[in-house]
This record gives sequence, C-alpha cells and structure tokens, in this order.
Amino acid sequence: MTKRYESWGKYPKHQPALVHRLRWHTETPPFERFGRPVLAYGLGRSYGDVCLNDNGVLLDTARMAHFIAFDAERGLLRCEAGVSLKQILDLVVPRGWFLPVTPGTKYVTVGGAIANDVHGKNHHREGTFGCHVTQFELLRSTGERLICSPTQNSDLFRATIGGLGLTGLITWAEIKLRPIRSVYIEMERIRFGSLDEFFDISARSDARFEHTVAWLDCIAQGTSLGRGVFLRGNHSEEPGPLTPSKEPKLYVPFDFPSFVLNPLSMRAFNTFYYYMHTPARSHKRVHYEPFFYPLDAVRRWNRIYGRRGFIQYQCVVPPTDRVEVMRELLTVIARSGRASFLAVFKEFGDVASPGMLSFPRKGVTLALDFPFEGEATLRLCEQMDAIVREAGGVLYPAKDARMSGEDFRRFYPQWETFSRYVDPAFSSSFWRRVTRT
Ligand SMILES: Cc1cc2nc3c(=O)[nH]c(=O)nc-3n(C[C@H](O)[C@H](O)[C@H](O)COP(=O)(O)OP(=O)(O)OC[C@H]3O[C@@H](n4cnc5c(N)ncnc54)[C@H](O)[C@@H]3O)c2cc1C
Repeated sequence: MTKRYESWGKYPKHQPALVHRLRWHTETPPFERFGRPVLAYGLGRSYGDVCLNDNGVLLDTARMAHFIAFDAERGLLRCEAGVSLKQILDLVVPRGWFLPVTPGTKYVTVGGAIANDVHGKNHHREGTFGCHVTQFELLRSTGERLICSPTQNSDLFRATIGGLGLTGLITWAEIKLRPIRSVYIEMERIRFGSLDEFFDISARSDARFEHTVAWLDCIAQGTSLGRGVFLRGNHSEEPGPLTPSKEPKLYVPFDFPSFVLNPLSMRAFNTFYYYMHTPARSHKRVHYEPFFYPLDAVRRWNRIYGRRGFIQYQCVVPPTDRVEVMRELLTVIARSGRASFLAVFKEFGDVASPGMLSFPRKGVTLALDFPFEGEATLRLCEQMDAIVREAGGVLYPAKDARMSGEDFRRFYPQWETFSRYVDPAFSSSFWRRVTRT
C-alpha cells in the first residue's frame, strides 16, 4: 500500500509533490535538484501541519533508523534521527535505562521529538526532551554538516530544538537516558471534584512524584466543572523485570463514520471514565506502558474521528489567574458540546526549555481534541484563542492546524530572531501559514 503522508489529526490535507526516502545518516539528499521547499518527516505524529509541506518535498526519515553507539555504563545513546522512541525502549529497557522525557506516544522519532521539543508528565522535574540532548548533527541544504551542542554551534542547537524542522535535517542525535530498576511505575490515582482541588493535589505532588498529569472531564458543567482524575507516579525503586511491551494487537481498520462520535457518546465516555475510578483514591504498581502510553494500545486510533479528522488544541497559560482562565476555557468548551474524550491537564514547572521556539514554560497546560466539523470547530477554537491571548498564554505548534499568523507572532515574538537560522531550502505548510502577513 502506498504510504500516506498526513498528520495525526488528518487536518489539513496537504500533499507533497515529491517524497525522498532516506536510509542512512551519511546520505545527502540532492537539495539542488528539488527546486521546491524541503521538510523532514518523522512518523507524522504531529497533529496539524508542522510535518506537512504542501506541494513541496518531504524527506521521509522513518528508515534512517539505526543505532550508532550505546554506552550502557553511562546511559548515553547515539542514534539516527529516524529511530523511534519505541525502538529506543526496546533496546535500553532490558539494560536498565529509560527515556528521560517521553510524550504520550512512543511512535515518534528522535528527530521529531527534538524538532518539537516535546514534553511529558515529568516536565516539572526534567523539563523538555531537548534538555537531555547532548549533541546532534545538522545537515544544511548547502551540504554542510554541523555538530551542534550547548557549546558547539550553540545558536543552531537552540534554534533546532523546538525549531519545527526548519533549520535543516537532523541526521543523528545523542541523548542522556535515566536509569530504572524495573519496568514498573508506582502509580496513584485520585479523583478530584474541582479545579481548586486539582491545583491543591498538583502542588502537593510535585515534590514527591516525578510524573504527574490529570484527565479532565471537559463536558461537565456547573458544580461538576473542572472534575477529573489525577495520576501520579514514580519509577519503582525495587529491582524487577526489565521487559519492554509488545506491539499492540488492536487497531482501527478504517475511518469511522462521523455519527459514531457525537455529543451523547462523548458525554457518556467522560462520565464513565470519571466514575470508573472507584475508590476515589487508589495505588497500583503498573508496567510503564499503560502509564505513559495508554493511547498506543490501539493502533491508528485517530480513525475514530472519521475522514474529516480532528483538531487538537493545546495551550499553556501562566500561573496568574489560572483557575479563572481555565474555568473560562472549560465553560466555553462545555457549552459548545463539541469537546471529545478526556482533556489532558498538567502544571509545567520552571525548568527552562533549551529551544528558541520551545512551547513549554511555567504554567498550566490543557490539551484536548475536537472532531473537525468545519466552521463551527474553527469558531470555537477562535473563542478559546481569545481567552489564551488575554491570559498571556501560548499555543503548541506541534498540535496546531489553524492558529492565525498574528497569534503565532504574538505568542512567539522571538520568531524573527529564529528566522535567521531557518535553512533557505526548508519550509513547511505551518511556517508558510503563520509567517504570511
Ligand atoms: C497520541 C499522541 C500523544 C502525544 N503526546 C504528546 C505529549 O505528551 N507531549 C508532546 O510534546 N507531544 C505529544 N505528541 C506530539 C508528538 O510527540 C510530536 O508531534 C512529535 O514531534 C512527533 O514526532 P514525529 O517523529 O512523528 O515527527 P513528525 O510529526 O513527522 O514531524 C514533527 C516535526 O519534526 C520535524 N522533523 C522530523 N524529523 C526531523 C529530522 N530528522 N530533522 C529535522 N526535523 C525533523 C518535522 O519537520 C516536523 O516539523 C503526541 C502525539 C500523539 C499522536
């Protein structure tokens, strides 16, 4: 079957004019022959258009996925940029190492994780993925290969981390792993009834737990507004098995018809999830897989949103007035009746992100999906944009398919400084959209 180059949200639908597949980090693509803007493509797990290049060239890196060196004493791994986090876990978990930071799916490449400077449940302790990258090689369209690190070509290092693939092609990278004694996570689940309760639990958890996150019922209104389930955990200290998880067997074979996801089914799901967590507080030792990657249990789950796809909305707003701002956002969402499954809610800490354009910063982040229903969905997002803007927050480019150029430039005023590092041969659908004046 021909591989489709789309993003996880399946919106917008942009097609490249040409795909160039890379196999080895030593290869140099024929940049001078392309005559169109170029962009690297990892596993397409970005939700919007940062990984799309309408009518341009995509450099498919999925097969440029070889390990180069692994120092199992120090936990230092060097690999090609197309290696996925799943492949890394398969290699390093049996040797007692784990990813220092991981997003909610392991089906992302190292190149993609750097280019979006991804974050995980331990942001308050470990910052972003980029904080653990010791060096990488950047191939510019001139054919020049530059080693970038905090001390060598440090400007390009900072521009490339969170640089949305625009500074060139990352060919390989070196990352520092964290040790583990088993695959287990000591996990606690706590049901909370309001935003105030969430912030209270979060404040009490940050010092004791490496990983914290909450699932929010984004359909609940009135006195139930802001209710959800708080999840926190630490890698188990006890020695135990070091067996990585297997590939999931379940998968969604086709795009669901649009009537399957409707306000009623979503409300039922959210309510069910909230009440399924009885007792209101529990402790369990679990494999890291369901703790970090619950959504990976079903391959291609994005098909449940049907052919039109969906929009993911993720913002972070500063700590000031956080309860009021989140209340406002949740009210707008709940009233619209358009929100879908659970929203993810987390407090970011103050570990500085190393990238010039990195999204994470101190504050509270909210991420949720909306089935794409044309104008109505876009209008709802614009209403939310206004609240985020007013609060001094920003949106996450990796999840975005529609923010206005004006908003992007306001959220990321450093974009002009960043532009100096953009490789002239590289561009993306996202970049053209948000820099168009
Ligand atoms: C279920 C799910 C859960 C997620 N959870 C989180 C989360 O918790 N936290 C979070 O931060 N993100 C999360 N994400 C988003 C995801 O982690 C990022 O979008 C990630 O960057 C996708 O990586 P990818 O390999 O699929 O890259 P793609 O989506 O293919 O590309 C992403 C960007 O990386 C660039 N790129 C890729 N390879 C290279 C390279 N070799 N050189 C230069 N640039 C390159 C591309 O040009 C593009 O700009 C989640 C996504 C999904 C589907």
